[in-house]
Amino acid sequence: MLQTEKQALRLRRSVLSNLGVLSLVLLCWLAAHMGYFVIDTPYVLALTIVMWLGHGLFVIAIACSGNLRFKDASLTLPQMIWVTLFLSLLMSVVQDIRPLLLMGYLLVMSFGAFRLSIKGFYGFTVFTIACYLLSLSWIYQHRPDDVQLAQEFFVFVGFGLSLCGFLLMGTEFSNLRKSLVARHRELKGAVSRIEELAVTDELTGLYNRRYLMQMLAQQRALANRSRYGFVVCYLDLDHFKKVNDQYGHPFGDKVLKGFANLMSYCLREVDIGARLGGEEFVLVLADTNLDAAYGVCQRMADKWREMRFHEAPDLILTLSAGITEFKAPETIERTLERADRLLYEAKNKGRNCIEVEQQELQVPFDFDEDTQPA
Ligand code: GH3
Ligand code: MG
Ligand code: MG
Repeated sequence: MLQTEKQALRLRRSVLSNLGVLSLVLLCWLAAHMGYFVIDTPYVLALTIVMWLGHGLFVIAIACSGNLRFKDASLTLPQMIWVTLFLSLLMSVVQDIRPLLLMGYLLVMSFGAFRLSIKGFYGFTVFTIACYLLSLSWIYQHRPDDVQLAQEFFVFVGFGLSLCGFLLMGTEFSNLRKSLVARHRELKGAVSRIEELAVTDELTGLYNRRYLMQMLAQQRALANRSRYGFVVCYLDLDHFKKVNDQYGHPFGDKVLKGFANLMSYCLREVDIGARLGGEEFVLVLADTNLDAAYGVCQRMADKWREMRFHEAPDLILTLSAGITEFKAPETIERTLERADRLLYEAKNKGRNCIEVEQQELQVPFDFDEDTQPA
């Protein structure tokens, strides 16, 4: 989920839960207004305003992203504590309607069931019971007639049982959340592995043909709209079949991996090195001219000739290459065909050879938005 979506959810949850508590307060008022019991109106009004001012700070913190610097960005526990304190103070000034406020406690608990850890949830339950008992003892001390001990005992037991139910629910939610988080992490890992496999050549770890074609299409689009061209080098290891025949297929694989490592070592970060298949590789050198590309391939060919494998110390490996430049707005297939033809010429010249496309005077390409693919 995006951070903005998460913030919107936190804001919504915070406002909704406080509206729930406010509706209980309004109910108290309504009951008092209808004459069913007496409340200290100025005190309750002042308390409600203070509660909402405090709550406003939470809302502002979330709206301004100030909550993000806290470990629990949803600020669940502080909000729950704030509302519970408010309910406890409110309870000390109302009389017969106290059970209604007990429901407020449960409402607050339900708010935390989705967010708090098991430890946090247990701690908060103890805090709620303590708040309830404190306000009850305050009432007992100041208005002893308001407290019928036998009734209070049964209400308290009922309240305790409800809290136990919430505790069980909170524990279930917490476990469920944990397993969901673990599952989500696993899935994310699997998706990124699949994404990696989709673009990677399994043997060498280089990019595969599919990714190469995607990148070439991207480079082409870029080159068609700007003056940044790119060069394509088609490389083929010479007499590779003989290597396989003489030293075995596993050794051939090792040679291919060795060449892939060499290629990665010689390329810049912006360049792309891919294995087309077999012992054929393609380099895409961004914002490079033919001379520079020739230099890169030459260095690579030199290092490849110097490469030795302990299984075959006398084996001297060579490569051939065809190098061409993308000519906007031709298709990628056309560029690759030209590189392949140059590679073929290099092979015909006896291998261990790099053929570069003859540079000719070109008519400058008109960088028109309506450029049509050839
Ligand atoms: P040339 O100089 O004309 O390129 O000759 P070559 O022998 O390199 O070319 P050819 O196309 O005749 O042979 C390519 C060989 O590459 C044949 C095939 O067995 C081998 N090959 C293709 N893929 C793999 C692979 O993944 N591992 C190994 N070990 N060999 C492979
Ligand atoms: Mg070959
Ligand atoms: Mg080949």
